[in-house]
Amino acid sequence: MEEKAALQAESRKSVAFVTLGCAKNEVDTEHMRERVVCAGYALADDPEEADAIVVNTCSFIQAATEESLEAVFEAADLPNVADGRAALVVAGCMPARYGADLEDELVEAGAFVPCSREDDIALVLAEAIGEAGNGHAPLSGGPSADGEDAAAEGSPAACAPVSAYVKISDGCDRFCSYCTIPFIRGRYRSFPLDEVRAEVRKQVDRGVREIVLIAQDTGRWGADFSEPSTLAALVSTLAEEHPDTWFRLMYIQPEGLTDELLEAVASHDNVCDYFDIPLQHVDADILRAMNRTGSRAEFEALADRVRRRMPHAALRTTLIAGFPGETDERFEDLCSFVENADFDYIGVFPYSREEGTRAHDLPNQIDEDEKFDRAQRLRDLADAVCAPRVAERIGRELDVLVEGREEDGQLFGRAMCQAPEVDGVTYLERGDVGEIVRVRIEDTLLYEMEGA
Ligand code: SF4
Repeated sequence: MEEKAALQAESRKSVAFVTLGCAKNEVDTEHMRERVVCAGYALADDPEEADAIVVNTCSFIQAATEESLEAVFEAADLPNVADGRAALVVAGCMPARYGADLEDELVEAGAFVPCSREDDIALVLAEAIGEAGNGHAPLSGGPSADGEDAAAEGSPAACAPVSAYVKISDGCDRFCSYCTIPFIRGRYRSFPLDEVRAEVRKQVDRGVREIVLIAQDTGRWGADFSEPSTLAALVSTLAEEHPDTWFRLMYIQPEGLTDELLEAVASHDNVCDYFDIPLQHVDADILRAMNRTGSRAEFEALADRVRRRMPHAALRTTLIAGFPGETDERFEDLCSFVENADFDYIGVFPYSREEGTRAHDLPNQIDEDEKFDRAQRLRDLADAVCAPRVAERIGRELDVLVEGREEDGQLFGRAMCQAPEVDGVTYLERGDVGEIVRVRIEDTLLYEMEGA
């Protein structure tokens, strides 16, 4: 039996994935991985050993496109790809954004899978591997005995992480003037409640302790249903179905932060009192040019509204520096907002001038160096303001979800006020990975915390 399984494993074609970009892309890669496992492929950790490499690209700004291209060229240079033993497939945002132009120019790739076709990844691989492997047909077909073996051996379920992202919608209808996402990902589509529930159930069953709900515009979830629903209803349902699991919401546009949502977060202990609200700017004219709404006064009132309901909630935002028309005066106003902001974490990006967007053709573009200088000045201001806010947590008792150990053996985890990958971690002295441990915050260093 073991011998048969070994033989089957050996004869299965294998696929390695390389993922660029944001958490939403990571979720897409996970879905593609599941599809290829169900189709009978094995997953390879090492691209050099694989029969096919799928590079899931990001291209929402020029810098991300360049990074993705670099990853594609790196994969193309691997011996197995270079000598034609392995197929190279370019998936995700880059083929979605550049379409036929990319196919004409990127001759290194054997196939392209834009976001909208990622469900067909197994079919594309079947063709691509068939060609790269000198005509050997890959294993394919629906879930089979092979597929089950593969799932047991190489599926993402085999090593459950402590925290997992679950996408609740795709696309975006806002058409911010600087953003390529609506062109890449298409119009906003909420995923049905039962689909989200099933995905969350699957993650919880495999041992995940924190579910991070993500989308391009999380707060809009449910508004496009024939019988509209809300993010507040969704998160309440999930939190009540899984009382031992943490739920975290990311990317809530300011309009999505309703009183109903605040109430849903405040009334469930297992929903993180954490709000990630991309503001992008605070000047009303700049926001209008961005095709967004709001003003400094409105955003200050919004932060105030959250604080009044949940004084200890963590607030995160992102800002864009150097948008066309950002005069010195408008930039100084943005600096003053950051200096006085009631936010715990502030991410800053220099404006990226993207072909095909409306902002690309706006007058009064800012010089590249100046944009980077402004972004750096805002980051420095943000650190100076946010670090003391983090230090205010010293002496408080917080639950920490234990995530793992550093190379030197130091245990670390995250409190509810720390989102994965962006807000630092909490170092602690006891607990097992996946356990939630109550600690007292003893010290902080910039965004890191130390608990005992
Ligand atoms: S909300 Fe604006 S910035 Fe965010 S994905 Fe949609 S269009 Fe892009």
